[in-house]
Amino acid sequence: MPIYSKQNLKGRALTVCGPINPADLGRVICHEHLLIDFRVVLNEPPNKKDIHYMKEKVKLSNLGWIRTYWNSNEDNLLLENINDSIDEMIDFKSNGGQSLVEVTPLGPTRVTDQNKKLKHISEKTGINIIMGTGFYVDNSLPSYFNNKSVEELALIIIKDILQGNSGIHSGIIGEVGCSFPLTDNEKKSLKSAIMAQKETGAAIIIHPGRDESSPAEIVDFIKSNKGVIDRTIIGHIERTIYDYEKLESLAKTGVYLNFDQLGIESSYYPLNPKSYMPSDHQKIELIKAISDSGFNNKLLLGHDIYSKNRLKKYGGHGYSHTFQNILMRMENIGMEKRKIDEIIIKNPQKILTFE
Ligand SMILES: [Zn+2]
Repeated sequence: MPIYSKQNLKGRALTVCGPINPADLGRVICHEHLLIDFRVVLNEPPNKKDIHYMKEKVKLSNLGWIRTYWNSNEDNLLLENINDSIDEMIDFKSNGGQSLVEVTPLGPTRVTDQNKKLKHISEKTGINIIMGTGFYVDNSLPSYFNNKSVEELALIIIKDILQGNSGIHSGIIGEVGCSFPLTDNEKKSLKSAIMAQKETGAAIIIHPGRDESSPAEIVDFIKSNKGVIDRTIIGHIERTIYDYEKLESLAKTGVYLNFDQLGIESSYYPLNPKSYMPSDHQKIELIKAISDSGFNNKLLLGHDIYSKNRLKKYGGHGYSHTFQNILMRMENIGMEKRKIDEIIIKNPQKILTFE
């Protein structure tokens, strides 16, 4: 069983099949879930007369409803069929995808033998999978979390990366779950992630709280705990920051900005009904604007797929969406090919390379 050190990982990327030359990552999608039990967000629908949908299997006759109220159907929130993942990754490859960052955190959101299954999917399809580690938001932490110190939690993350489990290693820390404001447990989790970053040289990928001030709070916290800002990715930008000035000031801190909600074309956002999910067109316009402001080298893309309705098998856009439908539209609104390649190849290569 290979055991790595910070020194021998330096300059390499770490996939579930072992370390690789970062140049071999190719075209990368930077925030996904191939296997996830996302029933931690299951909630009753806003219209109580629709409650019967909660227990139904996903099918064509309820799919239209599920696309809007996706967290009010239990079956929809469980991705556990590895054959579905394999089909999706074959399709991903046929559309030019080469690598994918799978950031399902430790704890109840993982399915049984998550790491072995991810390795199997990678071996079957030839797609590089970079697996996450670390802890999600306060309501979905593993049972051992409360009884462990920051140092002990950091050690779990460090072991996941350097030592691995059953010969399978994590290659990034996250998604680290944050609410707004940060809870005490989330501060503990962030501190352990920062410690592990120091000990391994891995990047940190953040799930921010649903408030425009959340990313700034997280950046301040990371800075004051001596984390490395330019080795940090703030995810879910589209559903977090709506004000362009705020987005630009976040970019100026040096973090990477992950536009990882591509493919969601339903504007109702059940996890924060008072806000909304921008359309793909709005997301692309924002990506171009922030690129034009000089931050192209900080942009990453993803779909954050966590439910059946977004898989091709169930009538969704699938993991290939960016390659199939988005990059062309970025060119159509005037982004240079060179800049698009930077977002899809160079930026992921840089952030996924251990330092
Ligand atoms: Zn996610």
